[in-house]
Amino acid sequence: MPASANIPAIAQAYVSERAKKTLDLVEEFVEKECLPADPLYEEQIGHGEQRWNAHPAVIEELKTKARKLGLWNMFLPKSHFSQGAGFSNVEYGLMAEYLGKSRVASEATNNAAPDTGNMEVLAKYGSEAQKKEWLTPLLEGQIRSAFLMTEPEVASSDATNIELSIRREGNEYVLNGQKWWSSGAGDPRCKLYIVMGKTDSSHKDPYQQQSVVLVPAGLPGITIHRMLTVYGFDDAPHGHGHISFNNVRVPVSNLVLGEGRGFEIIQGRLGPGRIHHAMRTIGAAERAVEWLIARINDERKKTFGKPLSAHGVILEWLARSRIEIDAARLIVLNAALKIDQGDARSALKEIAQAKVLAPSAALAVIDRAVQAYGAQGICQDTPLANMWAQIRTLRIADGPDEVHLQQLAKRENKSRKDEVIAKLHWQRERANSLLSANGFQPKAKM
Ligand SMILES: Cc1cc2nc3c(=O)[nH]c(=O)nc-3n(C[C@H](O)[C@H](O)[C@H](O)COP(=O)(O)OP(=O)(O)OC[C@H]3O[C@@H](n4cnc5c(N)ncnc54)[C@H](O)[C@@H]3O)c2cc1C
Repeated sequence: MPASANIPAIAQAYVSERAKKTLDLVEEFVEKECLPADPLYEEQIGHGEQRWNAHPAVIEELKTKARKLGLWNMFLPKSHFSQGAGFSNVEYGLMAEYLGKSRVASEATNNAAPDTGNMEVLAKYGSEAQKKEWLTPLLEGQIRSAFLMTEPEVASSDATNIELSIRREGNEYVLNGQKWWSSGAGDPRCKLYIVMGKTDSSHKDPYQQQSVVLVPAGLPGITIHRMLTVYGFDDAPHGHGHISFNNVRVPVSNLVLGEGRGFEIIQGRLGPGRIHHAMRTIGAAERAVEWLIARINDERKKTFGKPLSAHGVILEWLARSRIEIDAARLIVLNAALKIDQGDARSALKEIAQAKVLAPSAALAVIDRAVQAYGAQGICQDTPLANMWAQIRTLRIADGPDEVHLQQLAKRENKSRKDEVIAKLHWQRERANSLLSANGFQPKAKM
């Protein structure tokens, strides 16, 4: 059954015929071209230091094929940008699910993080000159980029803590400080760092101390000290850099939007960007289910005389996985729809729901698949161990679960408490008058 026949019923009305055709093309491209190319990509990256200079040939071949099929820049929503492929967030959400099954598919179609969020920043907030210099080559897939916010010396989930100094001197900004978890900075094609720091650390409003500047990679004063691993995986050639800035100078024209507007920019960036991860995560979970089904029906590997699929507990894993994935998909598509109908700001609750639920659901699904494979599940012989490690990071990256949960709960509590308490009070009063009128003892007051 093609992907377009599997669109959840409640999303169908929001998907155009053109998007359905593209969705089917994405599915075919991922299943027939990208998934078989994943192992080749890993081999072409090579070993040792060579991994950080790699530019696997297969990725360029896939990019050429994807462009010919029209599978390019689907992430930029048509409601807010003219530079993309002209799809809504819901439509892209369905496509991103398939991209999330493969290691190479997102980059092959120019829908890979962190470039996607960075392109949104440039398209939304960049000056014409900044767009020409950076957005155009990013949209063309000619260069890559990194977003540098998190710092080793402060708790970065509270972005008011960010310390990197951006000091104005004449017509230049001078940057001093450290960043880490700068994803993508390991790639030799990464030419742009979008850096958040403080232009005015004494501003009375802590949300107006921050600014964002564009920094060409490789400027004097920039040192990449090391690449951080993800549960032991190096994620080369992309990588997660620990970088220092020592009197790095950029022209004032590299400032994005204006001094003190850094928060506005990161909030705009992390709206749809957060659900892109969630959308891809659903695809990774679907891939884990495929591997689970393959293992539990493996006739060579019976336990106690039966294939695993004949053991009730294992069938329950499959059933639970199906329920959890389908539920998470609806939450993710609902967030996408809410953004389509307004903007990321009006969909904060739905985005937080998707950001928290999708990785947790996928981790539970992948973990069951790992368990079904026994020891094989935790080694390099299946994609499951790497998938688990990648998705586990999403409970921290782009803000940890606890921060999203706290904000979600604060908003819900604030917006509902007065109405809920008044309603329950009224209902109790009404119940008591009904009880009294019918000769019964009223209940105690709330
Ligand atoms: C794979 C990966 C890729 C990343 N890529 C990038 C990138 O490209 N660019 C970038 O700038 N950053 C990136 N990050 C960093 C990521 O965004 C931060 O790690 C994240 O925001 C948390 O900040 P922190 O690590 O400083 O943790 P801290 O802020 O020190 O928080 C530590 C823990 O405290 C708890 N906590 C925090 N706030 C609360 C609260 N309000 N209530 C209860 N508990 C709380 C949470 O459990 C949290 O995990 C990446 C991280 C990972 C793992």
